[in-house]
Amino acid sequence: MSEFQNKTRAFAESFFETVRRDSADRAGVSRMGYGPHEQFVHDFASSIARELGMQREVDAAGNLWLTLPGTDRSLAAVVSGSHGDSVPEGGNYDGLAGVCAALAVAKTLHDEGIRLKRDYRVLIFRMEESSWFGRAYVGSLALAGALKPGETALRHRQENITLAEVIREAGFDPEVMTSGRALADLSRIAAFIELHIEQGPRLDASSSERVGIVTGIRGNLRHQSCRVLGETAHSGAVDREFRHDAVMALGELLARMDRHWESWLAAGEDLVFTCGVVNTAPTAAIAIIPGEVSFGLDMRSLSMQTIERFHALMLREAQDIARKRRVRFAFDDVLVCEAASVDAGVRAKLEAAARRCGIPFQAMPSGAGHDAAVLANAGVPMGMIFVANQNGSHNAREAMRIEDFLAGYEVLLRTVCDFDKKENQ
Ligand SMILES: [Zn+2]
Repeated sequence: MSEFQNKTRAFAESFFETVRRDSADRAGVSRMGYGPHEQFVHDFASSIARELGMQREVDAAGNLWLTLPGTDRSLAAVVSGSHGDSVPEGGNYDGLAGVCAALAVAKTLHDEGIRLKRDYRVLIFRMEESSWFGRAYVGSLALAGALKPGETALRHRQENITLAEVIREAGFDPEVMTSGRALADLSRIAAFIELHIEQGPRLDASSSERVGIVTGIRGNLRHQSCRVLGETAHSGAVDREFRHDAVMALGELLARMDRHWESWLAAGEDLVFTCGVVNTAPTAAIAIIPGEVSFGLDMRSLSMQTIERFHALMLREAQDIARKRRVRFAFDDVLVCEAASVDAGVRAKLEAAARRCGIPFQAMPSGAGHDAAVLANAGVPMGMIFVANQNGSHNAREAMRIEDFLAGYEVLLRTVCDFDKKENQ
């Protein structure tokens, strides 16, 4: 382990533990966006920043900006950070790892007396998780001027309050946040770099390459509630040729799409396909041929074109199956979330930094969405560092080894320090 990693270990461990203790729930941690435990992360980060002599600003959405001034303040800043909230009874490191890494870089720069040319800014986003109100990326979308007015009318998953009310209670104005105007001058960001736990098993499955440099963030296309409509009938009395079995039709569609998916992967496409919701009618029974089944679909890829082609293929297959099985497919409107590109220059800097530190890495796509994607789609050059973690995320069993975190932190530190160095130096 390098000298920088060694020096940062105690800071990181105590940061994670302090926040975990504040937000501990029945299982895991709960930090609702704009709630008191997310606020604790912001206050705790502010107190650390004060000791490091950083300037503090809060934008109109409540995102926290902590700045270590550079020697040439006319230059655009290098910015790093992530979100401080969590899902209900979630893990401690989703979001918080990127907050801690960004602060740890500021602390190292301060402690080692390193003065950079550009401003280095830590950015802590509000409410990234959608599980409380159904809207993800609230803080970053508001920052980019891309949060829609209707979206703050969403209601809490359990309590009778709206997102707008919670935002107001925290001291911010939902109307300013949904005005369509960016809340900061995004052209003053030379690069936004987010460190995040991987949330998948790939890095953790490797014994040596446990840091990821992200190649892009997958976009997605969703159908929230579709139906297959057939005909309900007695399971014993109706022979195969007379049936209109909705479940069999859906089963065939999924089996066909699974085979297409496999061959598309073999052809080199980036694609994931999930049918996570399937329900027969409330009156369904084992002795009744199902006349109706509802389902939801999610397809993701780094390429929106791949998603669109796969979606079109699925509609064609559904039509064919409908004819053959004498049922009808009813698809609802698609919900689309654009893929986000990693900036080639930022990615090259991250890879060069990892090589300089002697930290082996994997180049990999991000399957989950992130605040970084929102900024990238608003024109900010973006890059991401993944660190290995265990048991996925969005659950209380989520885990991360401090050694993996520190390797990712060092890649971030080196990237920030060498930001204006030529690649071959
Ligand atoms: Zn996250």
